[in-house]
Amino acid sequence: MKTPGKYSFGLGDRFGHQGEAQLKAIIEASKHGIEITPVWNKSNREHITIGTEPSDVRIEADMVTKNAGFKKDYFVDADHINFDTVDRFIESSDFFTIDVASYIGKKAEEAEIKEFVSSVKKYEGTLKIPGIKRSFNISREQIIQIAEKYLFAAFKAWDIFRKIEKIKGAGNFITEVSMDEVPVPQTPVEMFFILRMLASESIPVQTIAPKFSGRFNKGVDYVGDPQDFAAEFESDLMVIDFAIKEFGLPHDLKMSIHSGSDKFAIYPHIGSIIQKYGKGIHIKTAGTTWLEEVIGLAVSGGEALDFVKEIYYEALEKIDELSAPYSDVIDIRIDNLPLRGEVSGWDAVKFAASLRHISGNQNYNPDMRQLVHVAYKLAANKMDSFFRLLDKYENKVSESVYENIYFRHICRLFGIK
Ligand SMILES: [Zn+2]
Repeated sequence: MKTPGKYSFGLGDRFGHQGEAQLKAIIEASKHGIEITPVWNKSNREHITIGTEPSDVRIEADMVTKNAGFKKDYFVDADHINFDTVDRFIESSDFFTIDVASYIGKKAEEAEIKEFVSSVKKYEGTLKIPGIKRSFNISREQIIQIAEKYLFAAFKAWDIFRKIEKIKGAGNFITEVSMDEVPVPQTPVEMFFILRMLASESIPVQTIAPKFSGRFNKGVDYVGDPQDFAAEFESDLMVIDFAIKEFGLPHDLKMSIHSGSDKFAIYPHIGSIIQKYGKGIHIKTAGTTWLEEVIGLAVSGGEALDFVKEIYYEALEKIDELSAPYSDVIDIRIDNLPLRGEVSGWDAVKFAASLRHISGNQNYNPDMRQLVHVAYKLAANKMDSFFRLLDKYENKVSESVYENIYFRHICRLFGIK
């Protein structure tokens, strides 16, 4: 059976130019004793916006690993696929993020719900999950409610899983189940019964992505109390640990955090909690590599700086259109966006520092960063000039990508000094 290893990192590379720089960060971590399996992820939405195919991600991953002589495992993730979108991903992917969010809340048949409820009868009453101080009082009604909310989604996860398995064969791919793109976080008790549902559907889930409280806006830091997150994360970890033993789920089942990138405030908590229990983790970052490309072009100055400034001006004009598909995962304070007249006078250093996620820097502007993050479509419309500039200023661009992933993400998460 394929396994993502103890630590894995989801890398987004929307335009397919930064695989080498991303891999360099993974290789550097290994030199410091942290083995991370790289997983290149790209969602259907990103493919559609840019006009790429899932096979492009495979070609890039194969090429950069081959060129670097990287002999360890790596994966290509069909990110957030569902029954309708999975088909074109099957051949070239070997990691599938089965997104059941849109099926949550749809009811399974009465008889199916009844059957599930009676199959978990033994958990009614007081439920003690090792590692969690408080115990849970589970009523029949509560189980019925959970079944009404999640059982249908578990059935759909099975349908999607089978569709993939029929073509790829058992054990030849990683199965992730994601339910992060919903409004309300799952409670530990819900997680427990969801895992039971996946187990009874015989889905060999290896990573599971729950929804956590707080906001995980794209490309910027966590919004919420990191201590609350830590408590929630630790409980979920204990639930997973218990469910593996209790339901016979794959022993390497681990938590997947769809971070949306840059959740620096919670990285130290994640790091210390997984260390405490010796657990693994999959951290998925969003396509913020694109932002690093913009920063790399900005610091290159001249025509490259002009190009990214133009993208920003256009983004200001099209802010509603660009933000709409991402409304749940961005919070842009429009008043905080510098206008064209102001930005036109900025030099390379100022423009780059406004976008680079260094919170102590007085120029850093998270609103501008979020806007540029969702503006990648504008570069896709000028692909020829964009790619020409990426090639011409490759050194600065790949340096920016590498520094971001290695120093700001990996070092913080794994405590590399
Ligand atoms: Zn997600």
